[in-house]
Amino acid sequence: MPPQDLANDQRAALDARHLIHPWTDFREQPVLILEEGNGVHVRDSNGHRMIDGIGGMWCVNIGYGRKEMAQAIAAQAEKLCYYSPFGFLSNTPSIELAAKLASYAPGDLTRVFFTTGGSTAVDTAMRLASFYFNVTGRPGKRHIITRDLAYHGSTHLSASLSGKPSDRGLIDLVEGTIHHISAPNPYRRPEGVSAEAFLDQKVQELEDKILELGSENVACFIAEPILASGGVIVPPAGYHSRTLEVCRRHDVLYISDEVVTGFGRNGAIFASEPVYGIVPDMITCAKGLTSGYVPLGAVMVSDRLYRQIAETTEGRIFANGFTYSSHPVACAAGLKNLEIMEREGICAHVREVGPYFQAALKPLMDSPIVGDVRGSHLMACVEYVSDKNARTVPPQAWQIAQRIIRETMPRGLMVRPMGSMVIMSPPLIITRAEIDELVAILRE
Ligand code: PLP
Repeated sequence: MPPQDLANDQRAALDARHLIHPWTDFREQPVLILEEGNGVHVRDSNGHRMIDGIGGMWCVNIGYGRKEMAQAIAAQAEKLCYYSPFGFLSNTPSIELAAKLASYAPGDLTRVFFTTGGSTAVDTAMRLASFYFNVTGRPGKRHIITRDLAYHGSTHLSASLSGKPSDRGLIDLVEGTIHHISAPNPYRRPEGVSAEAFLDQKVQELEDKILELGSENVACFIAEPILASGGVIVPPAGYHSRTLEVCRRHDVLYISDEVVTGFGRNGAIFASEPVYGIVPDMITCAKGLTSGYVPLGAVMVSDRLYRQIAETTEGRIFANGFTYSSHPVACAAGLKNLEIMEREGICAHVREVGPYFQAALKPLMDSPIVGDVRGSHLMACVEYVSDKNARTVPPQAWQIAQRIIRETMPRGLMVRPMGSMVIMSPPLIITRAEIDELVAILRE
């Protein structure tokens, strides 16, 4: 019998027997099989319909069930499903998508390297930074500065850059050249420290770390504009530009990880410049690049770096890339995704409903268990505490998370409880009415 004809419990049994899920423990547990999606809604295999408060995983930006996307993907698969992108070989969708991305990129970030997703984009950015300093005669610049609570991916290198304590400790990581500084989390600002002093401290911490390592030894600083899965931590105003200044002063590359914030989630295709006022040296992106219809990632690279490498490399090859770099089908999906975003004015829509979403969530602060409600545009986090004044993480956070799932799903909402936080990033086409419904269910 073909698997789609199996009864729900038979499929669940096969899942339990054969499928290893990412980020789960290996004990058998119930699964939820998602069957279809339309707009901001998904439907499970029992036919139960829910608002997708997670956007799949911060990625289904244009919403589910877009026929145009399916058609663009099918047309390219039929025309040229794949060819190697290595060396002199190219394909039309990747050329067109690179040019399109360059037209949106801040400053001179007009060079594009396609990858298979966010982790491989982050790895590529790190390897490119290393290549850059090696070929331009500064091989000592090998150290990387990143932050606690960051999430940069799940390859060996990108996982090593991540900083969430819960993700560390049970798998070996790159050691010696990766250094974490603290996350600029305004909710955890210590008692008695003013907002200005807090910002100064966080910026100073970066500079101190560079000085401690010696700027001649530091290659780059990588930062998400908003620490996404670390808890939607929005740094204080000025943090981005001041940390960039520090990097510039010490000849340290600034890499902005826009895997989540890119493609409209903050109301702009790339948030770095229009929202946070910075032109970094590289931007990593993925997810919303194809709205999750097929996997694709990219690194936007400064033309200045590219030229410096080209002038000094003497034919030595940047030995980095993937079979599926510049994948024609994925790039065709990326082009159609951007066409839809432009045609429907999705970034403008986010700039309009984003503040409404944040304002609608804020009143949850009146609940005795809610310590903080924060976010920007269509990314939000509700953090629950056992003591509002002391901002104490509840010891039973995991059980609370499970209960939130059990209570919200039957009411028609998917959210992402993580530790003591509920994280939300709905499809960007969400309407005010759908936001009201989402918040009402969450409040219940
Ligand atoms: N960078 C950030 C900021 C992310 O949030 C993620 C994934 O959630 C990644 C990188 C890794 O992307 P991927 O899971 O596509 O490899």
